[in-house]
Amino acid sequence: THFGEQTVAMDDKQSMVNAVFHNVADRYDLMNDLMSVGVHRLWKDAMVNELAPPKTGSRPYRVLDMAGGTGDIGERIINASVGYAEVVVSDINTDMLRVGAERAKSWRYPAQASFVEANAEELPFEDNSFDAYTIAFGIRNVPRIQKALNEAHRVLKRGGRILVLEFSQVDVPGFDAFYRAYSDNVIPPMGKVVTGDSQPYQYFIESIRKFPNPALFTSMLVEAGFKRAKHTSFTGNIATLFSGWKI
Ligand code: SAM
Repeated sequence: THFGEQTVAMDDKQSMVNAVFHNVADRYDLMNDLMSVGVHRLWKDAMVNELAPPKTGSRPYRVLDMAGGTGDIGERIINASVGYAEVVVSDINTDMLRVGAERAKSWRYPAQASFVEANAEELPFEDNSFDAYTIAFGIRNVPRIQKALNEAHRVLKRGGRILVLEFSQVDVPGFDAFYRAYSDNVIPPMGKVVTGDSQPYQYFIESIRKFPNPALFTSMLVEAGFKRAKHTSFTGNIATLFSGWKI
């Protein structure tokens, strides 16, 4: 059946994504800095600023950082809350989590994080159990995006918030041509020099080009049940921050 074929294609996508991150895990952070010339740090800071995690409260503030990889969003959230937030850094890839857990030993508040292997499409967490769900540059790697958003909605408490940071297609005249040339001609060779392989970075560029545009992605948040869904674009639309509330 058509549906059956689609399921196989989705499973293929996940295996391919897993192989990519298995191969780059150890050099992932370095590649992020090189490819984005450090700008990913500013976008991530802006995301955490928008979340504005509380610094004190009468009960724990629990965050699920999905596709959290090497943990840098988790670390930022905990630091912004001055050690108050409790973050579950979750990712489908053991290698990314291994690098993250190792790095976390030298964080300012290492006890505030835990690392849990999980698939964003089927979360092993209870309903209504998190105050916030964050996912940075992760959702476009998930084969069934709608399923992951539905799961995010399920595990959030009422009053909880989702923030999604993701690349988008650059459509700023002039800049789009530069960005396309940079993506095609600089990123894969850079990936080859640093990680020994250009193929993962070819995947990376294609996955950005295939990702739903901001209006469509916002409608998927609404479909999952999120209210007050909105988005903000950064740096000539290279990245977009989406926000929604479970109310
Ligand atoms: N959040 C980190 C950051 O911003 O640097 C890591 C982002 S990295 C580009 C994408 C991550 O998505 C990888 O660590 C990958 O293993 C993870 N991932 C891919 N498919 C996933 C899935 N179905 N469920 C959970 N994580 C997934």
